[in-house]
Amino acid sequence: MLALAFYESPEVLTGAQRLIQRGIEFDEAADRQLASALRLDCLAWSALQFTGGPEAPSPTIAAALQGGVELLEVQFRQCNHTELIDLALVIWPRERPIHTLRRALYCAKCLKNYQRKRRPDLIGLRVRQNPDPTSPMK
Ligand SMILES: [Zn+2]
Repeated sequence: MLALAFYESPEVLTGAQRLIQRGIEFDEAADRQLASALRLDCLAWSALQFTGGPEAPSPTIAAALQGGVELLEVQFRQCNHTELIDLALVIWPRERPIHTLRRALYCAKCLKNYQRKRRPDLIGLRVRQNPDPTSPMK
């Protein structure tokens, strides 16, 4: 009974609430720092692709999504077709590296015209520039 009265006192509650609030703020700051680190890792991988570096290892799809780098630019060399793949929409395990997506991608136009599934080159990860066109207007 005495302990319950102690925990219910306004001084203890405000102290506990302050600690909880600080914990929430630290968690949010840690999340922002992690997202920033993941974004830098994704942009570094993209720069490596631009300079002709190896596709593997690559960041995971989850890392790209958490880092806010949600679009994968691919190019089909044979027909010069370029496409932006929205990583939030792909049906692929999120823990898999981005370069594993290549084997699931092919050019639909080349399949129609030449009956061949041509695989793309991975150009790099991109930050979404425009808001989602399907999102409601404000
Ligand atoms: Zn094509």
